[in-house]
Formats: sequence, structure tokens, C-alpha cells
Amino acid sequence: MARAIVPGSFDPVTNGHLDIIERAAALFDEVTVAVASSSPKSALFGVEERVEMLREASSHLPNISVGSFEGLLVEYARAHGAIAIVRGLRAVSDFEYELQMALMNRRLAPDIETVFMMTGAEYSYLSSSVVKEIARLGGSVEGLVPKSVGQRLRQKVGLQQR
Ligand code: ADP
Repeated sequence: MARAIVPGSFDPVTNGHLDIIERAAALFDEVTVAVASSSPKSALFGVEERVEMLREASSHLPNISVGSFEGLLVEYARAHGAIAIVRGLRAVSDFEYELQMALMNRRLAPDIETVFMMTGAEYSYLSSSVVKEIARLGGSVEGLVPKSVGQRLRQKVGLQQR
């Protein structure tokens, strides 16, 4: 049984993330999506909310589970018996950070391989930050995030602006 971890901030999950998660679920027997709770980026959604949104959006896939972690990703991966960490790559600008993380994670855990998947072309310009910015400015995020995420975004941004 081969398990992969798909880690990230997922603040919130976008259709670009889901594309990577679905493709990982087709390659590996089991996929655990892991929400980083100690991310340096300040988050709009709490960890539990981010986990809930991911659970809703991936409920059609039987081999996906969702959790959260604090501390080292490789420790979480080990504790879950994962053989791989899956990350998505969009532009060249993603590369340097991803290379650094992958090399450091290999140093910490040589038995866990980082696997990269190229973004779906239609999602190459899509990021959680852009989605949050559009929502804040009152634009439509339809087609960029799952419907339930769009609703939560509107609610959250409405609350913040009140
Ligand atoms: P992090 O804060 O760890 O970068 P993100 O939630 O921003 O977390 O992203 C998680 C993973 O999903 C990363 O590997 C990122 O490159 C990937 N990703 C984000 N958006 C897209 C997208 N539109 N297409 C492909 N991969 C993506």
C-alpha cells in the first residue's frame, strides 16, 4: 500500500489544488491531504475550517483523507507511513522554494521522496492569495474554487468588512 501526503496551507483550497489532489489519488493507493497549521503565512481561515473545506471538496474520492499538522512535515509523513510528498508546480517562480524544501526534506528523511506534478494549464495562474483578493474586492470566484468554498469566502470577507 503506497501512501502520499499532499501538504499545503490550503487557505482556502482551490480547483488547482483539487486537480493535484485528484491526480495524486489516481497514482497512489492512499492520499492524505495535510493542512499546515504553523505556516508562516497569516491565514484567513482557521485550520479546522480549511480541513472541513478540503473534506467537503474531496468527499467523492474514497482514498483521500484530510488532516492537519504542526511541526515538521517529514515527521507527519513518517507517522502516516507515507513514501512520498506530492507538490504542485505552476511557474518557474515556484521552483526555487520547492527545490529548497525538497532538498531539506530529503536530508531530514532520505526515505521519503518529493514528487512534483505540473499544474493543469487552466489553473496555472490560480492561487489561494489571488482568490482571496478577488473575494475581498467583490469579484466572482466561480470556477476557481468549489461552490462551498465560494460561499464561505463571501461570508468571511463580508464579516471582515463589516
Ligand atoms: P504552501 O503554503 O505550502 O505553498 P499552498 O496551499 O499555497 O501551500 O499550496 C499547496 C501546494 O499546492 C503547493 O505544492 C503548491 O505549489 C500547489 N498549488 C497551489 N496552487 C496550485 C495550482 N493552481 N496548480 C497546481 N498546484 C498548485
